[in-house]
Amino acid sequence: MPHLSRRQFLQLSAGVSGSLLLPHVADAAGGEDFPLHKRVGELATICPYCSCGCGLVIATDEHGHISNVEGDPENPINRGILCPKSIAVRQLANSPLRLGKVKYRAPGSNQWEEKSWEWTIEEIAKRVRKARDESFVRTIKVNDKDVTVNRTEGIAWLGGAANNNEDCYLATKLMRALGVVYLEHQARL
Ligand code: SF4
Repeated sequence: MPHLSRRQFLQLSAGVSGSLLLPHVADAAGGEDFPLHKRVGELATICPYCSCGCGLVIATDEHGHISNVEGDPENPINRGILCPKSIAVRQLANSPLRLGKVKYRAPGSNQWEEKSWEWTIEEIAKRVRKARDESFVRTIKVNDKDVTVNRTEGIAWLGGAANNNEDCYLATKLMRALGVVYLEHQARL
């Protein structure tokens, strides 16, 4: 193998990567088949992966499937920059493994049943109510005196990056009304 100086190596690398990129640039400039040309809709949204809350611009194709994900240059948090994880956001929506219906496995069963959202929401509400009533604490002893606390120690709520301000506001209202004290969010750094 011939010896290359540092300068020759850099010149060669630039030439090779330029020739690899050129066909793609040409496609992007004029090719009808280039996937990014199939955008029919674009919307600005927030990356759901972590509490940084970077802004995304999501493009969809004619079937409503996500065809491209880019950083939103107008978002003041990331100013168009994204980490590699967010590029996989399209898989969240497009994956054939994604569940589109509620699946329920009853206690002791080894079978999953399909359930409606009405049944599911009602069931969750019943179980939250039961857990709250069974774990509700009205008073605790402090220096031999009864102090009113009115709290439940049987429920916890944990928020994540996908919750926006409005979600968090409503969730906090509901949890406080139930007497939940174990209330946390991933973004509380
Ligand atoms: S793009 Fe990366 S850093 Fe930004 S919110 Fe998504 S996962 Fe977090």
